[in-house]
Amino acid sequence: MKKLLFRKLAKVLILCFLLIFFVISSFGCSLNPNHIAKNLSTYNMNLVFDETNFILNGNLQLNFKNNTETILNNLHFNLYPNAFRENSNQKVISLANKDKCYYNGISYGSIKIEKVYDQQNNDLNYEVAGEDENILIVELKNSVAPQNNTQIFINFEVTIPNANHRFGYGENTVNLGNFFPILCVYENGCWQDMFYYSNGDPFYSEASNFKVEIEYPNSYILASTGQENDLIKKDDGKKISVITANAVRDFAIVMSKNFSILSDKVGKTTVSYYSYNDENKQESLQVCLNAISTYNNLFGEYPYPEIKIVEANFVHGGMEYPNIVLISDDIPDYQSYIYCIAHELAHQWWYGVVGNNQTEYAWLDEGLTEYSTALFFENHQEYGLNMDMLVERANSSYNVFQTIYGNVLGNIDTTINRSLEKFNTEPEYFYMVYVQGFLMFQTLNEMIGDKLMFASLKNYFEDYAFKIAKPEDLIGSFEKTTHANLETYFTNYLNGKVIEFKDKV
Ligand SMILES: [Zn+2]
Repeated sequence: MKKLLFRKLAKVLILCFLLIFFVISSFGCSLNPNHIAKNLSTYNMNLVFDETNFILNGNLQLNFKNNTETILNNLHFNLYPNAFRENSNQKVISLANKDKCYYNGISYGSIKIEKVYDQQNNDLNYEVAGEDENILIVELKNSVAPQNNTQIFINFEVTIPNANHRFGYGENTVNLGNFFPILCVYENGCWQDMFYYSNGDPFYSEASNFKVEIEYPNSYILASTGQENDLIKKDDGKKISVITANAVRDFAIVMSKNFSILSDKVGKTTVSYYSYNDENKQESLQVCLNAISTYNNLFGEYPYPEIKIVEANFVHGGMEYPNIVLISDDIPDYQSYIYCIAHELAHQWWYGVVGNNQTEYAWLDEGLTEYSTALFFENHQEYGLNMDMLVERANSSYNVFQTIYGNVLGNIDTTINRSLEKFNTEPEYFYMVYVQGFLMFQTLNEMIGDKLMFASLKNYFEDYAFKIAKPEDLIGSFEKTTHANLETYFTNYLNGKVIEFKDKV
């Protein structure tokens, strides 16, 4: 009898354990983009790439979900390609990098809005407005209430400039970053119209779903955000990629005739490395795998099924988009190439999954990304760098910057928390946002220790996944986890006071 009771009890206990295990493991999978997809806007796009003229024709059908608390009468879209047009007031490149970007001489790009209409094929009133033709405003026939949907259609034509830029074509790749009309973020009672700056990544958007079909010549290999579900070969030497992506905040494409692809898996994510000029491509793929695995462990698992790392013609070191990063083919040494891969992949966590206004608070993703890159090297010292070396490098290069620029300009503005247009020079932006941003997180790590540091970042990642975080949200995540008041620490750093203090010592 006792034996029978014991067996029954054991069975119940096993069942309880299994139930608890099931609950815990299903919580662990809670960061699933497919779970939130139905609550987001969806961009359905048909694109046709004309390789002779470097023109992209597009039809966008937007299913807009009003996730604001306001009844909306109009929608605003950013028209980033118009920053590349002739006589634009927006700067897409600094003077120092102009020749490298426009290696064939100056070239222009743009986006032309051809037609805007509704489901019944009625034309909708629209205006290409903003400070510099950077915004499309569409008047809705019927206003859309909170939590309701509306559907609009936009036909557009994109001219791609001959430029080694995130939007442009070079000798090996066609880079389509920020190429389509993308919704502005509605915040504080108005649409946040973005303006293009040569410093930083002046982009800001909400997580959305994408269903994209693109027709292009057979000779090209394409890498993009999301997953390719189908590849339709046509008789006319062209093919169509059918691509979907759920809960991503942008959609980018890179095409090349010369790509070779290497792939492997980290956890649930397939990692693919596209290159044309890399002699160490197997090693580069390993760097990608190691970086993703490091960040998975430190911050929380990457929630998307695919990620592509793409060698590209690009004037700067690298550029991040959801599920895809560009790494310049013009990086002078292999260790810097590794650094760039680790940096751009860290952005998948900070910018990609956890979004932020990159114009207003560039440090929020860049500072955290630089700190994450240093953590990658600390965890993979076989690549010849570690945290101490990177801290020393940051401090000494900052001192050189301060001496040189201090002598030239007299006073340097050491504020980290500034919007892009308020940085006077490219070096000032770099040293404040990247270098001081990194040191701010690294010093905090030293103060609170690894356990609390990584617990805070895990909480921040989980709480703001697929959302937009503000500086106070990041500080709040640290305070909630550490039970310490860190407001003063952060504001002193962000307002540049730590540097002033250092100056006086
Ligand atoms: Zn970055």
